[in-house]
Amino acid sequence: MLASGKLAIDGGQPAITQPIPGGGYGVELIDDQEINAVADVLRSKKLFRFMENSQCQQLEQEICNRLGVKHSVFLNSGTSALTCGLAGMQIGPGHEVIVPAYTYIASAAAVVGVGAVPVIAEIDDSLGLDPADVERKITPHTRAIMPVHMQGVPCRLDAIIAIAKKHKLFVIEDCCQAVGSSYRGKPTGTRGNCGAWSLNYYKSITTSEGGVFFTDDPDIFERALFQSEVGLPMWLKDRTTWKTPPFSRAGYRGNEILAAMARVQLQKLNCVLDHCRSLKKLLLKLLNEPKCYVRQHVDDPDGDNGFSFAMLALTPDLARRMGQAMQAEGLGVGTAYNDGFPDRHIYAFWDSILNKTGATPAGYPWKDPAYKGNVVYSKDMCPRTLDILSRALRVGIHMKLNETHVRQIAAAINKVDAALA
Ligand SMILES: *Cc1c(COP(=O)(O)O)cnc(C)c1O
Repeated sequence: MLASGKLAIDGGQPAITQPIPGGGYGVELIDDQEINAVADVLRSKKLFRFMENSQCQQLEQEICNRLGVKHSVFLNSGTSALTCGLAGMQIGPGHEVIVPAYTYIASAAAVVGVGAVPVIAEIDDSLGLDPADVERKITPHTRAIMPVHMQGVPCRLDAIIAIAKKHKLFVIEDCCQAVGSSYRGKPTGTRGNCGAWSLNYYKSITTSEGGVFFTDDPDIFERALFQSEVGLPMWLKDRTTWKTPPFSRAGYRGNEILAAMARVQLQKLNCVLDHCRSLKKLLLKLLNEPKCYVRQHVDDPDGDNGFSFAMLALTPDLARRMGQAMQAEGLGVGTAYNDGFPDRHIYAFWDSILNKTGATPAGYPWKDPAYKGNVVYSKDMCPRTLDILSRALRVGIHMKLNETHVRQIAAAINKVDAALA
């Protein structure tokens, strides 16, 4: 081995000479545009979404235009958006919804929120739902599948939609981490029955907290609105006919200040995508043919946001050694799953779900008399997911990285891969 190839962990020169900064996405682009948009709303004192030509309504129109969908509504969070979608599809007590074992706990919590039971299915090398396991997990109680596009990477959506069609199930796409992504030329969230965005601080674009629900289906949308706004018919005075008798459920109303900010951030979404996508392309180009790992399967590379590059090491032990060696080179990567950190993106750490803890001692929704199924959870129920995540090393690509950083990251990965092969 060349002297320059000696690993830093063994006393060699680190591949990375400039520290790799941390960073986010839309949040990094906040400037006077957002500040002025928010200030203008405050000055106007028009702070209610049902006022004429409100910021919320304008935002919703702009989102519909961007996604090519008929209906959208701005809400207080991505969790709320998922809850609205489930209620919109009339999912509730007695029903099961299949969610991936690797997603933020909010995906499963939204199912519980409408009184339905989450069923946890394995992920595959896409780090998204494994279509084969989805099919195995279908029962007579299943009503919907919730594919999640993690870290901006679209999952195997075609295969999941085909299974849903075959079994006459709904598909609600959790796009909370993938705002801006697409799949086979269409925005994610528009191929299933409906989709949800989060505008939380960590996501593609942000209003600190926020969410968007969208669908083409007028009936799903009407019920989603009832779920989101307890007094809806009072605000929409002109509307007298409803397909579903109005019901009152929860208060997830979006607000004008954040909607004004969201409109500015939406204009910056392409800037975020262009930056991250071009850096990920560069990284992929610079990486040698891997020996110690395989790349995460990306079902539609053109639709990937470019936020994440994941390596699946051949064994968990190799993943640990690669992680340590890369750390010494100056690249902070750890395995997604390890015993040290209770990451709520991994089902094994969803204590409230695994323990079937409800808001009251009665144990709803699992003990709801309407529920005739018998879902069984355990920490090791998805061994394939735990195996994949214990081998997964992730490099985040964000707005604070530039080409120089990416060249150094690639050099570190290539060096470690060659040395440990
Ligand atoms: C962030 C996130 C959510 C929830 O969004 P909030 O806005 O935080 O409620 C749901 N699903 C996934 C996959 C997420 O990453």
